[in-house]
Amino acid sequence: MNIAIAGAGLVGRVLALNLLRTRPDMQITFYEKDSKEGVSAAGFTAAGMLAPYAELETAESVIFELGQRSIELWPDLLKEIGLYDGYQQKGTVITAHPQDMGELEHFIRLLRYKVDTVGEIEDCNGGEIGAIEPDLAQHQKGFFIPSEGVVDAQRFMAFSVNYFERFENVSFREYTPVTHIEAGKVYTDEGVEQFDWVFDTRGLGAKEHFDDLRGVRGEVLWVEANDIDITRPTRLMHPRYKLYIVPRGSGCEGIDLEYCKECKLSQTTGYKRYIIGATEIESEDFSPISVRSSMELLSALYTVHPSFGEARVVNSETNCRPAFRDNLPRIENEKGLTRINGLYRHGYLLSPAVVEKALTEGIFRQ
Ligand SMILES: Cc1cc2nc3c(=O)[nH]c(=O)nc-3n(C[C@H](O)[C@H](O)[C@H](O)COP(=O)(O)OP(=O)(O)OC[C@H]3O[C@@H](n4cnc5c(N)ncnc54)[C@H](O)[C@@H]3O)c2cc1C
Repeated sequence: MNIAIAGAGLVGRVLALNLLRTRPDMQITFYEKDSKEGVSAAGFTAAGMLAPYAELETAESVIFELGQRSIELWPDLLKEIGLYDGYQQKGTVITAHPQDMGELEHFIRLLRYKVDTVGEIEDCNGGEIGAIEPDLAQHQKGFFIPSEGVVDAQRFMAFSVNYFERFENVSFREYTPVTHIEAGKVYTDEGVEQFDWVFDTRGLGAKEHFDDLRGVRGEVLWVEANDIDITRPTRLMHPRYKLYIVPRGSGCEGIDLEYCKECKLSQTTGYKRYIIGATEIESEDFSPISVRSSMELLSALYTVHPSFGEARVVNSETNCRPAFRDNLPRIENEKGLTRINGLYRHGYLLSPAVVEKALTEGIFRQ
């Protein structure tokens, strides 16, 4: 079969990995409006949290179920591309500033009401938090969700490109925006090309087809610190925002991108790197992070541990999540064309399970 994938972002890559796994000789042509490294994809900005429980506060139970399935699927996908240390399932710590404890308890009550597996959410006092994460022992109360995980999103994007390049039957049309898609046809400024099947995974770039698709702005900061060692994703509850700190180790082995060449600090000093995110703003604004968001993210960081006061801010990123009105993912199937979109703030949490669903339940199977 001769397949086109329009959009080499997160979903496009997860899809190609699945296709190649069952049919390694399949002809796959990626169309990408930017470079094949995917640095402009939302999937490159993401923290890669796999947090089905924590997302339940605002998400439907289908997100929880698909998320659980994706957590089962990610390790094999990452092994396939040689990213052996790009997945961690050591749980999430959730805590709050003392004056926001009411907010945190309300959040946990809501999660427990929504899922049967309440045993999964453990109450922790300071000593118990310290036993899990010694550098968080100063927090007197918190919760621990042992089964949540995280994917190293930026290395997933980099390793998947390296993997695809090993296949002679996979090609990239970089800097080639797709203007229109029909069953079996991809339109670009250069003309129209025919395929046996086309997958539309353009994220926010698929607005020419979906009139209810919107972007939700998200901002993250990257910091490096040598006085503090947190090894698990940590959430901080706050009345206005729900922020997380995601440890990213101290290097970016395997990533050969301009972006990573810029953050030299950890490579030379062994500093630990953390992503602080993410804001959620109803706007399709891709401009750099605002002062207000920076202050909120950094003050949350400082609340989690005052030693972060000496951390160095090494990067900031802004992107927009593709979302529909109901904030749920959507799969559209017709003969010769499958569209997958609307993964909103759950792309890493959902993409393996949503792609599996699209390939097993879709017409493509026949
Ligand atoms: C700040 C932030 C933090 C996030 N954190 C998390 C998290 O912790 N956990 C989680 O599960 N999810 C997270 N997400 C969400 C996740 O990143 C998205 O849900 C996911 O990336 C959507 O995948 P996608 O492939 O549909 O879109 P994208 O990853 O954006 O990929 C779309 C691709 O299509 C290309 N494209 C667009 N238009 C065209 C065109 N016309 N022609 C050709 N190519 C085109 C784009 O350049 C891009 O490469 C986060 C998102 C943001 C912004």
